[in-house]
Amino acid sequence: MRLNRHHELFRDSVRAVLDRVCLPELDDWERMGQMPTHDLYRALGEEGLLGLTLPVDDGGLGLDLGYSYVWAQELGRLPAGSPAMSLSVHTDIVLPLLAEAGGEQVRRAFLRPALRGELVAALAATEPGGGSDLATLRTTAVKTSEGIRLNGAKAFITNGSVADFAVVLCHLIEVDGDLGSTGLDSLTLLLVPTGLPGVHQERHTGKLGNRACDHGRLAFTEVLVPEENLLGKPGSGYQALTRVFTRERAFLAAVATARTETALQEATDHARGRAVLGKPLVDHQAIAFKLAELDAELALVEQYTSAVFQLLDEGAPALRQASIAKLRASRLEREAADLRLQLHGAQGYLDGGPIERAYRDARAYALAGGADEALLHLIAGHLRTDI
Ligand SMILES: Cc1cc2nc3c(=O)[nH]c(=O)nc-3n(C[C@H](O)[C@H](O)[C@H](O)COP(=O)(O)OP(=O)(O)OC[C@H]3O[C@@H](n4cnc5c(N)ncnc54)[C@H](O)[C@@H]3O)c2cc1C
Repeated sequence: MRLNRHHELFRDSVRAVLDRVCLPELDDWERMGQMPTHDLYRALGEEGLLGLTLPVDDGGLGLDLGYSYVWAQELGRLPAGSPAMSLSVHTDIVLPLLAEAGGEQVRRAFLRPALRGELVAALAATEPGGGSDLATLRTTAVKTSEGIRLNGAKAFITNGSVADFAVVLCHLIEVDGDLGSTGLDSLTLLLVPTGLPGVHQERHTGKLGNRACDHGRLAFTEVLVPEENLLGKPGSGYQALTRVFTRERAFLAAVATARTETALQEATDHARGRAVLGKPLVDHQAIAFKLAELDAELALVEQYTSAVFQLLDEGAPALRQASIAKLRASRLEREAADLRLQLHGAQGYLDGGPIERAYRDARAYALAGGADEALLHLIAGHLRTDI
């Protein structure tokens, strides 16, 4: 992505905002296992940070994807993964979906307030029975004379128990009683306000990492949703989701790259200062080469991720490229977090500090946004069909 001085000025201002609204309390949020999501979103909404690339008519800033790239990198520089995890769903999955496919009522009642940070969004695709294979999803929505009747359950949903609305991936069935197709071609996105009767939200507790970020279950029992909450045409859910997953994967790659940079920098500083057998760790070739390998990989992944943002900004589909970026960037983040912990010895193993937290947080991106193997499956598919 070709960043200019406006992007860099923006970086300075984002960093200042995040230092003010996140940094002072981030350790406490992680310790308590929750953050004040609504307060945080309102503060960021007031700064215009929740709709950087979205249309000006809807209250967004109408900027290019370079700003989203910088936003992701700056979130990645925070010493905990929770804000990036929560906000990436809101700013770079759900709100772009609403801007792309929402009708006037959806824009007025959900998109614009969500841009201001008055509403928190979730994307609910994964179900207790599986998330990688979307063909196995069971949640169904039936068109009736009173509206759309939704039944089903979702799990592991970021912002799931705090969201004011969720975009739900479901099979849309046109005629009551006729189950018709429940294949990929019936998958449809439906915006579901979580205050509707029949919606149940419940928080997952006891997670490995990203502890302050909310993750929850959603259950829908005979929920009646207005038809105007359909996003796009019936059956368009799979394609729409593929487009936003592309953007999400690029975003997560940028977050992971920034976190790798922090880990490498910190590990290197420590290796310079800590002596073993009469010389600094960094003067032991075994350690210096590990740091050098990471440094070399980071340079490549950073360039590649930046190029993916450029492709997306130019309107290229780039699903394969974004998937490659997310796969490699998140693996590198895990390696870097592991090495950083290792170089700190037992001190790094102690609970509560940024080193062990970074190690725990890094594990999520092997699953969220597409499991590593699901991404490899997609990349292999491109090899098979020679696309
Ligand atoms: C921190 C976090 C945040 C999340 N946020 C959201 C969210 O906001 N919304 C949402 O809908 N979901 C969310 N998820 C769920 C996530 O998308 C799923 O965990 C993921 O898609 C995998 O689905 P699953 O967990 O059901 O595992 P399964 O689909 O059961 O897969 C299990 C394992 O099988 C392997 N596998 C998968 N596909 C293949 C393949 N093709 N070939 C070989 N092996 C394979 C992988 O190792 C995978 O982990 C989140 C998950 C986490 C951990």
